[in-house]
Amino acid sequence: MTFAVPPDMRAAVWRGGAELAVERVPVPAVGPGELLVRVEACGLCPTDIKKIDRALCAPPVILGHETAGTVVVAGEGRGEWLGRRVAVYHHVPCRECRLCELRLYSQCAGYKRTGATAGFAPAGGGWAEYVKVMPWIVDGGGVVAAPEGMPRAVAILMEPVNTCLRCVRCLPPPPGTVVVLGLGPIGLMLAALAARDGWHVLAVEPVPERQVLAGAFGAVEVFAPVDDLAGRLKARCAPDGPDGVIAATDAEAAIGAGLAALRPGGTLILFAHTRRGQPLTVDGGEIGMQEKRIAGSYSSSIELNGAAVEALCDARVPWERLVTHVFPLEDINAALALARRPRDGSLKIAVTAET
Ligand SMILES: [Zn+2]
Ligand SMILES: [Zn+2]
Repeated sequence: MTFAVPPDMRAAVWRGGAELAVERVPVPAVGPGELLVRVEACGLCPTDIKKIDRALCAPPVILGHETAGTVVVAGEGRGEWLGRRVAVYHHVPCRECRLCELRLYSQCAGYKRTGATAGFAPAGGGWAEYVKVMPWIVDGGGVVAAPEGMPRAVAILMEPVNTCLRCVRCLPPPPGTVVVLGLGPIGLMLAALAARDGWHVLAVEPVPERQVLAGAFGAVEVFAPVDDLAGRLKARCAPDGPDGVIAATDAEAAIGAGLAALRPGGTLILFAHTRRGQPLTVDGGEIGMQEKRIAGSYSSSIELNGAAVEALCDARVPWERLVTHVFPLEDINAALALARRPRDGSLKIAVTAET
């Protein structure tokens, strides 16, 4: 089996500023132990958009890490991957350090090393026609077979679904009632995954067109964040309040209400605070006196790669509805604009270089 691979390709390159330039760049050369993946589609993740908008990395880079495609070149020793449809994780933990031993995989120093590139300094590379996967990603289990029939809009959800599943699994068992704050694409994934794990899911969301999706993604009731939200959430889980709250938003008022509603000893997980310098004011009495806990969950867990595939194969969840727009790579700036300012029911946005 061989695939024709051109010498150069289109890629969306960030060279500073708010926009990307779709340029021709060389297709990365594949060395021993590496893979070249022809990209079917790649999601736009808020963390990548943050890198552009806050200039958090040094240009030029080719971003995009929610990548699904087909292995078209397999470096020495990787023959078994050739022709396989895969989803690519751009980070893997070392599984040897103290933090890995503690299962804090996304905190591992090795995890920060990006192992997927379409050229320049490795930065994910999914916003291109081809992406190269480095040897340690393949060795570390970062390349996952995507079932043949899985739509591309579902295959690109592998990494975000893993990330959300890890967050849900941070809630102390047994499953009780959890409130998901915010029903963007991430909040909807969290709701669906929590419901699959046996949680009774309530949600808080201000936008009506997102509220209507709640039921399909496992939430039994949606609250608008108005008028004594804490009191209403608590009353709904009488007498004590919900067991868990997941903040898929950084809206301080909603987070404060969620914390106030939690039962004593309940857990609030911050999921949308993904960079330093995001102060949050909370009522310390909720923690000191009522023994509530505030925790965080960041990125994926290598232990959940299989569970993420399984979740995405669950036909009860309408995963495809999360990806409302797939733009041609040429229109990546329009895709970014929509992702920055969601409208008309837009949720997850992706780009594809396929013609
Ligand atoms: Zn992401
Ligand atoms: Zn490690």
